[in-house]
Amino acid sequence: MNHNTQDDRNQKNRKESADNTGKENRKSQNQKKHINVACIGNPNCGKTTLFNALTGSRLKVANWPGVTVERMEGETSYEDTDITIVDTPGIYSLTCYTIEEKVTRKCAMDDDIDAIINVVDASSLERNLYLTLQLLELGKPIVLALNMMDVVEERGMEIDMHRLPEMLGNIPVVPVSAARRTGLDILLHAVIHHCEEGMEDYILDYPTQIEEKIQTLEGMMQESYPDHSSARWHAIKILEDDEEVKKEHPMSVIHVADRSYEKEIIQCKYAYIEKVMKETLFNKSKKAASTDKIDRLLTHPVWGIPVFLLIMCFVFFLTFTVGDILKGVFETGLDAVSGGAAAILQGIGVSGWLESLIVEGIIAGVGGILTFIPNIFILFLALAILEDSGYMARVAYVMDSVMGKVGLSGKAFLPMILGFGCTVPAIMATRALETEHDRRKTMLVTPFMSCSARLPVYVLFSDMFFPDCAAVAAFSMYVVGMAIAILAALVINRLEKGKANDSLLIELPEYKRPNARTIRIYVWNKLKDYLTKAGTTIFIASIVIWFVLNFGFTGMVENPADSFGAGLGRLLVPVLAPAGLGMWQIGVALLSGISAKEVVVSSFAVLFGVANANSDAGMAAIVDNIHQLNPGFGPLNAYCLMLFCLLYVPCVATVATIKKESGSWKFTMKMMAFQIILAWAVSTVVFQVGSLFAG
Ligand code: GDP
Ligand code: MG
Repeated sequence: MNHNTQDDRNQKNRKESADNTGKENRKSQNQKKHINVACIGNPNCGKTTLFNALTGSRLKVANWPGVTVERMEGETSYEDTDITIVDTPGIYSLTCYTIEEKVTRKCAMDDDIDAIINVVDASSLERNLYLTLQLLELGKPIVLALNMMDVVEERGMEIDMHRLPEMLGNIPVVPVSAARRTGLDILLHAVIHHCEEGMEDYILDYPTQIEEKIQTLEGMMQESYPDHSSARWHAIKILEDDEEVKKEHPMSVIHVADRSYEKEIIQCKYAYIEKVMKETLFNKSKKAASTDKIDRLLTHPVWGIPVFLLIMCFVFFLTFTVGDILKGVFETGLDAVSGGAAAILQGIGVSGWLESLIVEGIIAGVGGILTFIPNIFILFLALAILEDSGYMARVAYVMDSVMGKVGLSGKAFLPMILGFGCTVPAIMATRALETEHDRRKTMLVTPFMSCSARLPVYVLFSDMFFPDCAAVAAFSMYVVGMAIAILAALVINRLEKGKANDSLLIELPEYKRPNARTIRIYVWNKLKDYLTKAGTTIFIASIVIWFVLNFGFTGMVENPADSFGAGLGRLLVPVLAPAGLGMWQIGVALLSGISAKEVVVSSFAVLFGVANANSDAGMAAIVDNIHQLNPGFGPLNAYCLMLFCLLYVPCVATVATIKKESGSWKFTMKMMAFQIILAWAVSTVVFQVGSLFAG
């Protein structure tokens, strides 16, 4: 992903020394050429899919906007040219409001970028062309990648490939399908050649009065900033009264740009787009009738939310049942490993403590977590299919009115849905929100969306204590999490005396058959993350837990109750007791769970020396142990433990991301305090009220 090679630095140096004929220079000095190309386009037009197809990367693709939040780089080559391709967040125009729009605009303007691949969704050309017209004004070499041609063909639409480039300043227009990987070579070929030939002058006909002003400003730009490469674009932006551009390139322009001409300029572009569409697009199809029909139910104002809950419920049912069937395989494997390791270690005569560390610490801690892979796999597979089919975007749409009422931007639900997978990317996705205030509020509630790391905790405790309705008990955590996220936002909104927020202007993508490659990349990335976590965080946490449970002030202890861990856990007992969690073992598990939520399970495994916590025997052993220590520990206590795990401080990785994204320790600390207090309060209320009924 990093292209800061020697070659590259050379090239930058060359750029500085060279003048406008720099490209010729580069060619003669260096046999293998190198260019930087940015993929820029609307959200959801397939930029990341194209990037992955061109570079062989595996970035996350999703059928909704706002997934790519940073510029990402990858390498490819074509003939004798090395190409660095940059993937950017989707934008609708070069006017910036959000962080991701700024990222993309900066990338488009970057002098390092030699050419732009403007990715457009050919099946909705009209909407996509607005950005294209703006990009053309930059004066950089642009190649139009007409993506999703498979969809265009399927729908029987026809695009005049001769007239379209003519109307767009004769830039190369290349039909491709990123998903089917067609047209990619032609695209690269066009990029390289177009890059060499440079940009033809492209003039959109503005009314004379505006055109004159543009030219005056352009002249002033060239005078004040002679090195500047996109003077015309800047002139237009100044005329649109773009604050940022005016700040970056201050000039006294008031005599020309006496007011904002933004409206006229926008109208002009749309009028031109209309003309282009008339001349180039035939058999324009309406939105597929089937999409409309399905949407009548799925985005229904009343039924939309229950349908969503039903679908999620079905997903968790699958996660449990199918996951459990697959689990058997892992169990046998783990038993063999753990038994084999013990035998080998005894055979070679290692000391007791080392055997205990390996078998009861590492294998129990890490191995136990690995047996949840089938569950995690099914969860991710289902989420990937829901995302890629276009359904998740509908969920955001359906939730929009709810979000507005609690003072969150409608866009906030997209990061929240990502939170079902992992909170870290979800927090990063809040960059799509417009104000810092909205971002922080969304960051505050996103961790309440149950991430996949919490799944093992739910699976284990609902299997152990709710044998008849494990899936329901676990699923309820997801519902409670969402409800609390929304309630928390509501309360904050009331406290701030905020008002309802703007509604979401999300465009609903068409439903489509999920793409096998996209799904594979998605699921594999998630599983890889999970395995990496098992090999790093959970591995280390298991060793630490083993240590604190096996050592005390007197050295190695026989009984864990004399260990450091027990001492630490006991400090928490009085606090946790009202929530029905008054056992030092739980205190230890919750503390260590901050490293990663799965570690709550690992620590029970290590605590009770259970090799495979996720097997029937393992669960029986844990329940037995808990009952011996605390005979009264029943389903209500287990439920409160699950609640606590859902709500208390998210894992360190999330906390670090929140700090990074908010840039404020104060905010991060306040948020952690809020979460701990909330977790305690909710589980205490549930336990106390529940005990009344049970008693
Ligand atoms: P981005 O937001 O521009 O990065 O778009 P993504 O790469 O995340 O893709 C958005 C959706 O469009 C995903 O569901 C892709 O699988 C799908 N997609 C991308 N390219 C094509 C294509 O050429 N044909 C079809 N049918 N779908 C595509
Ligand atoms: Mg993307």
